[in-house]
Amino acid sequence: MVAARYAGRSAARTSRTIVDLVRSSGVVSRVELAEMSGLTGASISRTVKRLLDDGLLVETGQSDATGGKRRTLLELNTAGRFAIGVSIDDARITYVLVNLGGEVVGEFSSEGIGASPPRAVVRRMAKEVRAVLSTGGVTSAAQVTGIGVAAPGRLDLRGTAMRSSREATEWEQFAIEPALQEATGLPVTLEHDYVCAALGEFWVGRVPAAEDFVCFFAATGFGAGMVLGGEVYRGSSSNAGEIGHMVLDVGGTPCWCGSRGCLEAVAGPRAVVGRALERPGLAAALGLSGHPDRVRADFAAIAGAAAAGAAVTGGADCLDVVRDSARNVAAAVLSLTNVMDLDRVVLSGPAFAEAGAIYRDAVRDAVSGLSFLRQVHPVVVELSQLGLQSAAIGAATVALDGGLIAPVSSPPR
Ligand SMILES: [Zn+2]
Repeated sequence: MVAARYAGRSAARTSRTIVDLVRSSGVVSRVELAEMSGLTGASISRTVKRLLDDGLLVETGQSDATGGKRRTLLELNTAGRFAIGVSIDDARITYVLVNLGGEVVGEFSSEGIGASPPRAVVRRMAKEVRAVLSTGGVTSAAQVTGIGVAAPGRLDLRGTAMRSSREATEWEQFAIEPALQEATGLPVTLEHDYVCAALGEFWVGRVPAAEDFVCFFAATGFGAGMVLGGEVYRGSSSNAGEIGHMVLDVGGTPCWCGSRGCLEAVAGPRAVVGRALERPGLAAALGLSGHPDRVRADFAAIAGAAAAGAAVTGGADCLDVVRDSARNVAAAVLSLTNVMDLDRVVLSGPAFAEAGAIYRDAVRDAVSGLSFLRQVHPVVVELSQLGLQSAAIGAATVALDGGLIAPVSSPPR
């Protein structure tokens, strides 16, 4: 039984390796696949036959005969399978539909979960999943490998509970995977939003597979997707990466997690809004509500004014407040860089939409000027190019991989 299960997993891995190689090669023969993968010709033939039968690959003519016999060429059947990626966030729910080639062929977004109860959100998501399928022209559920869900919060040991925050405690123990699976009829895989954002960077080919890198993800809280030697570092309970609860100020501001002086408590969007509200006249000038359910909207207004600077009313005050947040984020990233000896840090997530450059510059200055290893090697610090879809794209790759949790080894061309 154990051997049979191992053989099944091994076959799935081989299939994925072949799919990845065909994806990165474009058009390729069986002989070339054997050379690139190190697998035997017999293993390649068996796997390719299965992938052709499943409609994942297609034969696409013959190679030119140059000295030897002509070879049948293979390519990915990009319309053979699709996957849905969803990122769930306080401010917005973002959906993408990707094909087997990694292209985004459908997209949809709707209002965030706010204070809505989990069951109501799942009912709404089931309708929205149908909407994103129709934007991509996908009519058969059989073509869809599943739904990857990127969400904030702690995963429990079954991987089903997803979210924890002061405002929405109902989410803490809510098992979203079975609920969404039942509502849509599709397999659902849950993953941390910050891990998905890191996988999204791999998917678009931005990060070389050999690099050790961290994707610092900012939404209402912060997380760090850590990829070491091409594999996601997961920790003992698949919860590694909670950089928002790195203590920066011992004995400082209480954090909702129970500790004090956490990065999120001193520099997260909620802290930034709190500090802006203390400045006379700023709330009125920017139309800040100060309501706990409106943290992200308030933060976006402050970050937007900070990016505009002195040109707008309250801009100088906002720049002050956001720069203070960015200095704290930079200190946390610097510490992580020193601990982990990283090659690259990518800043990603919806909270960087308005003032990402302020955060990037602060992190870049701290890392290039103060990294303990700055004389040994440089560390690249950059903003993600995936915008609001970064976590959803990564979540789709999780679903496309059929639930195998590992980064895509070969990005699409
Ligand atoms: Zn905390």
